[in-house]
Amino acid sequence: MKPSRRDFFKGAAAGVAVTTVAAAATAAAVAGPGAADDAMAAADMEKYRALGGWIEKPSDIRPALDGDTTADVVIIGGGFAGLSTALELRRQGANVAVIEREFCGFGASGRNAGYLAGAGGLEHDLFLKHVGDETGKKIIQYYDGAVDYVEARFKEYDIACDYVPSGVLRAAVDPSQEGRVRESMEIGHRLGHKSQFLDSVEMRTRGIPPAFLFGEYDPRGGTLNPGKYVLGLRAAALRAGVRIYETTPMLSYAEGRTIKVQTPRGAVSARAMVFATNGYTPGNGLLETKVMPVRVSAIETEPLSPAQLKSLGWPRREGIVTAHYMMESHRLTASDTLVVTTKKVRYPYGSRTPNVPDYGAYHALRRALHERFPTVRGIALRACWSGYISFAQDALPVIGVTGADQNIFFTAGCSGHGVGSQSFVGHLLAQRIRGVVDPILAGIRHDTPDLLPEPLRWCAVNGAFAATNIMDERLNAKIAARSAWR
Ligand SMILES: Cc1cc2nc3c(=O)[nH]c(=O)nc-3n(C[C@H](O)[C@H](O)[C@H](O)COP(=O)(O)OP(=O)(O)OC[C@H]3O[C@@H](n4cnc5c(N)ncnc54)[C@H](O)[C@@H]3O)c2cc1C
Repeated sequence: MKPSRRDFFKGAAAGVAVTTVAAAATAAAVAGPGAADDAMAAADMEKYRALGGWIEKPSDIRPALDGDTTADVVIIGGGFAGLSTALELRRQGANVAVIEREFCGFGASGRNAGYLAGAGGLEHDLFLKHVGDETGKKIIQYYDGAVDYVEARFKEYDIACDYVPSGVLRAAVDPSQEGRVRESMEIGHRLGHKSQFLDSVEMRTRGIPPAFLFGEYDPRGGTLNPGKYVLGLRAAALRAGVRIYETTPMLSYAEGRTIKVQTPRGAVSARAMVFATNGYTPGNGLLETKVMPVRVSAIETEPLSPAQLKSLGWPRREGIVTAHYMMESHRLTASDTLVVTTKKVRYPYGSRTPNVPDYGAYHALRRALHERFPTVRGIALRACWSGYISFAQDALPVIGVTGADQNIFFTAGCSGHGVGSQSFVGHLLAQRIRGVVDPILAGIRHDTPDLLPEPLRWCAVNGAFAATNIMDERLNAKIAARSAWR
C-alpha cells in the first residue's frame, strides 16, 4: 500500500518526524536565533557523547564469542527487548545466548528520554485508521500493561533506576492545540485508556511550568534513568545464567530447524532465534520493507541551581511531552538536570544507522529549552546525543515470526515508545517461543503496510517531516511574538 501524504504527515505527528537540512534552515529563519544562541550552539558541539548521556561502556564487559556453541534460543541485540526476552526464557529454564555487537544498552535502550509511558503518548487516530477499534483496544492494553510489567521487574530484579512514578503529561503550549489534545484523549478513552484533562487552573495548582497551558495527564508510569534500567536488566540476566557475548556482531545466519548465527570468531546454533535489534533490524537484512530507523536526538543541561529549580516549580516532576505535530519532551532527572528530546528527527537514506551527532537537532532542542523554560536560558549543556528508534508506516509494533521453520522471531517498530513495550514484549515472545500465544499478542496482530522504496521513501518521509517542522516552528514563532508583547 502506498502511503498518502497525509499518512506520512500523521506519522510525523506520532512523535517520530524527521528533518532535512532545508527544514533546519527554514526553522532557524522562522525563529531567528541570535548571535548568543549561535555561540551556545558552538559550545554544544563539544558536549556530544557517542554513547549518550546515561551510560558508559561496562567495566565488566563480557567476552566476545570465541568458538562454536549451542543454545535453545539465540537472541540478537542486548537492549530492553533482548534482555527481557532472555530473562523470561531463563525463567522457563531455557539455555539462552545473547549476541550484542557493542555492549548491552548501546542502542536506544541506553539513550532514550526515560519516559515509562503507557498508551497516553500514542496518536490513536493514526493507528485506528489501519486497525479498527478491536485491535486498537488490545494495543492500548499492550502499552498500558507494559508499564505495570516494567514496574514489577524493578522489584523482581531489584533495579534502582531513579524511577519517579509521576505520570506523564501531554501538554499544549498554545490554546490552538486544545482540539488535538482533546480528540486524541477521547479516542483513547473509547479504547479503554484512562487519563484526565488538566485545565489551566489545575496545571498551575500542580505547579507545572507556565509554558505548558493545559493537557492530558496519564497517572500511569513516570520517568527513570534508562542507562541504570538497561544495565540493571543486564546484571539480572547475568545473575540468571544468560550467556551474554558482547563486542560480538552477528555477521550472518543460516535458517533451518537449527539456526546457525555466525559471528567473527564463532557461531551459535539454536532451535529458535530472536531479532531484538529494533532500529538496526533492516541493516541486519530483516523487515527492510516494513520498518525504518529514525534518528532521535537529546540534550541534557548541567544541574540546575536551587534558584533555577525553584523558578520552574514542577514539584511532582511529571514527564512532559508537548502536543506539537512533532513532540518535544521535557523532564527533570535525579541529578536536577533537564533532558529535552525529539522535536527534530531524521530518516537516514537507505535505513543506515551511523553513530553520528546531529547538531541541527541539538540546536533546535536548545531553542525549545529556552522557549519553554526562559528562567534557565543560557544554561550550559552537559551532553547531547542521538540514537535510533524504528518506525512502521502505521506507527504500530512489528512483532512476529518468520523463516521456513517459523523459528525466527522479531520485535521492532517501537515508534519511540519502547521503554515499556520493548520490555513487556520479552514476556510475550518467551511465551510464544514455548508455543503459548498470549491474548494481547494475538490481539495486536495486524498487517504492517509496506514502506516506499528508495529514493521515494527518503524524499517522502523527510519531506513530510520537514512540513511538520515548519508548522511547529510557525506556532512557536506565534507564541514567542505573543510573549514579547506581554
Ligand atoms: C533519543 C531517544 C529518546 C527516546 N525516548 C523514549 C522514551 O522516553 N520512552 C520510550 O518509551 N521510548 C523512548 N525511546 C525509544 C526506546 O528507547 C526504544 O524503543 C527501545 O530502547 C528499543 O529497545 P530495543 O531493545 O528494541 O532496541 P535497542 O535498545 O536499540 O537495542 C538493539 C541492540 O541490537 C544491537 N545490534 C544491532 N545489530 C546487531 C548485530 N548485527 N549483532 C549484534 N547486535 C546487534 C545494537 O547494538 C543494540 O544494542 C527513545 C529513543 C531515543 C533514541
